[in-house]
Amino acid sequence: MARSEPSLILVAGGAGFIGSHLCDRLLREGNAVMCLDNLQTARPSNLRLLEGRPGFTFVEGDIVSPLPEAVTRETHRITRVYNLACAASPPQYQADPEHTMLTNVVGTNHLLRLAERAGARFLLTSTSEVYGDPEIHPQVEDYRGWVSCTGPRACYDEGKRAAEALAFDYVRMNRAEVRVARIFNTYGPQMQCDDGRVVSNLICQALSGQDITLYGDGSQTRSFCYVSDMVEALIRLMESDIDGSEPVNLGNPTELTVRELAERVIAMTGRGNRVVYRPLPQDDPRRRRPDISRARDRLGWAPVVPIEDGLEQTCRWFAEELGRTGQDAPATEDA
Ligand code: UDP
Repeated sequence: MARSEPSLILVAGGAGFIGSHLCDRLLREGNAVMCLDNLQTARPSNLRLLEGRPGFTFVEGDIVSPLPEAVTRETHRITRVYNLACAASPPQYQADPEHTMLTNVVGTNHLLRLAERAGARFLLTSTSEVYGDPEIHPQVEDYRGWVSCTGPRACYDEGKRAAEALAFDYVRMNRAEVRVARIFNTYGPQMQCDDGRVVSNLICQALSGQDITLYGDGSQTRSFCYVSDMVEALIRLMESDIDGSEPVNLGNPTELTVRELAERVIAMTGRGNRVVYRPLPQDDPRRRRPDISRARDRLGWAPVVPIEDGLEQTCRWFAEELGRTGQDAPATEDA
């Protein structure tokens, strides 16, 4: 009789910010985890925290290309496919918009086909960006969004909308079991100092005595979810028996203006930093807050880490990181 091999969870984008936390948690729970990542936006040290751990394998590859043989030869073992593979920070995903679009459409298709062949369940990490610059507030999953297909964010938000459309077609055609998470802004340790997102920018600027950059007048809002809460939600969603044709908002509904966020960060870490104002990027959403009723109801989930605790932990982590690497905060360009 053939020896039965342990089942395997594939995490595409597993060396990235949320992906590396997800791999860590899945490994701690005793799973075998294969991380597939092109290392485009991953921190190499995220990977070093995972490599060598029992059950962990890393495969370098880009989901836009046909999946590497090191992945496809394990198809028979794969029971879960998490797709977190895409640059998520606006400056990063806009640096190569064609690749961003293809990652979401072609890359998601490659992973869905793999899930279909494996009989595995597939989870797409979609985004609050599918709501664009929302006209209703807070955003519920039934809201169809106000998105521009002509602007610089389209490669990401329209790409994610197309990825969702593809995933939901797999559900309709009974080709794979699918879960769709719409992730709102998430922060925590293992972000990159220079990835251009607001939490990492502000903390790194504050810690290294640089000017704090606020885009526009800082009155736009976001709702920030701590990464451990997000990972808990992703695993719950993957393992839930929810109807696969329902997307689920995942995020922390505590809403802050970007200016309020800056004030908190300065109070925690600041060294008398000056706040400077830069132009608001094109199509920057004015406000964003998830309605998480569906996640509460279907997954029994709500975030538990308050913003002040999450920010403290993140500031502490960045302080150690900057001390260790001697790295300075990024010189921020005008938006
Ligand atoms: N932002 C800012 N200063 C920065 C970086 C970003 O004021 O140094 C603003 C940005 O214009 C947006 C918000 O912070 O309104 C969140 O930006 P982020 O890039 O983190 O994510 P988004 O939610 O826009 O994808």
